[in-house]
Amino acid sequence: MPLQKIRQDLFALFNEQWKNAQDSLEALGLEEKQIEFFYDDSHRMLLNFSHWFFKNDMPSPELAEARIFSKNLKLMGIIDAVLLLEDKVILVDYKTSKHAKITEDIKRQVALYALLFEDKFKVTPEAIWIHFLKNPDDPQPVHVDEALLEYGKVLLESMREKTTSLDEVNYPCTCGGYCEKEFITR
Ligand SMILES: [Zn+2]
Repeated sequence: MPLQKIRQDLFALFNEQWKNAQDSLEALGLEEKQIEFFYDDSHRMLLNFSHWFFKNDMPSPELAEARIFSKNLKLMGIIDAVLLLEDKVILVDYKTSKHAKITEDIKRQVALYALLFEDKFKVTPEAIWIHFLKNPDDPQPVHVDEALLEYGKVLLESMREKTTSLDEVNYPCTCGGYCEKEFITR
């Protein structure tokens, strides 16, 4: 299929989904101008994504939105896309954040995902690409090496130490309440 046709189809799908989401969009209580901004922003992300995908002749992902759970590590993560490029495994994480910048949070996520993938599939990923869907220089690769994997192990250890308690009061909310529905009370 030629790129133009694929783009058309992609945008048609997007518009349909956007329309279907009218009720939830309205429930956000945003001003029309803000909704327009997010529509344009999302549109631009799709444009950037399709441009990147075709310009670099990207393969279809081996896995998409893969929920990976490791009993060994007691760790779960959802990996947006797993690509196989010349026998090398690349994990892709799509971000819709405002700024296209690799933050400390992202570095932590990357280290844990590398560890998780390695434990589950016994293959060390070559890199994790952070795709902000914003700029021509996207995605920004983070190379996986021994140091990154070690960092992941230290993080896991420290998380584990901080999450031994079963008492909810030991986990004060810092996210503005999103976690509320994810707390399992016994
Ligand atoms: Zn919270």
